[in-house]
Amino acid sequence: MAKSSNKESYNKIFSNLKEHHKWFENSIPLIASENVPSPAVREAITSDFGNRYAEGWPGERVYAGCVYIDEVEFECMKLAKKLYKAKFADVRPISGVVANLAVYSAFTNPGDVMLAPSIPAGGHISHGKKEHSGTAGLVHGLEIEFYPFDAEEMTIDVEKTKQKVEELKKAGNLPKMAMFGGSLFLFPHPVKELADFLKSFDMHINYDAAHVAGLIAGGRFQDPLREGADTMTMSTHKTLFGPQGGLVLGSEKHEDPIKKATFPGLTSSHHIHHMAGKAVAFAEALEFGKDYADQVIKNAKVFAESLNDAGFKVLGEKRGFTESHQIAVNVLDYSDGGKVEADLEKANIIVNRQLIPGDIKAGRNYFHPGGIRLGVSEITRLGMKQNEMKEIASYIKEVIIDKKDPKKILTKVKSFRKNYQKVHYCFDKKLGAYEYVKLR
Ligand SMILES: *Cc1c(COP(=O)(O)O)cnc(C)c1O
Repeated sequence: MAKSSNKESYNKIFSNLKEHHKWFENSIPLIASENVPSPAVREAITSDFGNRYAEGWPGERVYAGCVYIDEVEFECMKLAKKLYKAKFADVRPISGVVANLAVYSAFTNPGDVMLAPSIPAGGHISHGKKEHSGTAGLVHGLEIEFYPFDAEEMTIDVEKTKQKVEELKKAGNLPKMAMFGGSLFLFPHPVKELADFLKSFDMHINYDAAHVAGLIAGGRFQDPLREGADTMTMSTHKTLFGPQGGLVLGSEKHEDPIKKATFPGLTSSHHIHHMAGKAVAFAEALEFGKDYADQVIKNAKVFAESLNDAGFKVLGEKRGFTESHQIAVNVLDYSDGGKVEADLEKANIIVNRQLIPGDIKAGRNYFHPGGIRLGVSEITRLGMKQNEMKEIASYIKEVIIDKKDPKKILTKVKSFRKNYQKVHYCFDKKLGAYEYVKLR
């Protein structure tokens, strides 16, 4: 091999990183599970915290060198508890999946049954069965029973769920845990309506707020810990605009089992730079979260209506399409979710294909599902409002319904995109949203 090949690889890495930043500067990012953090969060995650270990609980670490890390982690826990009005917060899970695993480990044993939404009904792989390589089944040995889902209302069916639980009890399969929350998540889940019933069977109720954590922080969507959820898990980087990470919340009585599950159970290093980034994001969410969540929901509604007016089959029509940051569209009139995703990408419109209710029965799979999912969290962070939603809906129509050449729309997208290069809803905006920072 040529002598220069290591340096060539090295250079290739950086040229791809830079190209990626440039691409996103010129794109409309509509992946509902993504967001753009503030320059302050980016600063925190490049700090030396990322090179340290701080195993254990702040103040009781197993290594020296944690003086400032402990200060930040105490602040991080304080802010998390304030933001979500919770008595206990473990800020160490390194992702939403790990946060869910912490709750499974703390409150269930392998072989127990968990009630959870199926994937086409909005559930996440981390709630899934062993035969689908879902985390709950594969990693913790849980047996999964799905909630009955109402595809018209696009939420869990309360009465049928009650019947199902009674049947499971008769069959000797009573669930030990009920999981709410999901990845395709248009309307609040019936936590309030089901909590007393589920608790009468001694079930632990967890609410997975991975997608909607930023909306809940802003006082929108629903308030699971007040509605009857015992614990709440989340990712810190979807509607909540932190670094990639996880969080578990609960009350004092959950503290001990969760702490043990997180460390030493599930983490050694808890990615301390990201912990600092979470602390920054919690402070930003406390300060700006309400305005942000309000605008996200306004934007999602206008976007959904505009797509519907353009001729798309937007799910959840009966209930006004959405109460969250997400919109789901059935695209089977044009092709399938996979093809639509690829066509839009050619115009720098970044969306993801999505399994929707009915797909599995019809034999469709994740590569060619019936839908796409759109999220407005990131474009809201960039300062876009209702008029911009209408504009973006028209680009999508031109590519998918009018079948115009995506290259023509790409030109429009790039020029539209020029005006939205800063992150909003944060204290300091010096750095551009996708500005590449060279440290070498
Ligand atoms: C994204 C997501 C997760 C996983 O989060 P990671 O932070 O990527 O591990 C868990 N649950 C739900 C409902 C999600 O949508």
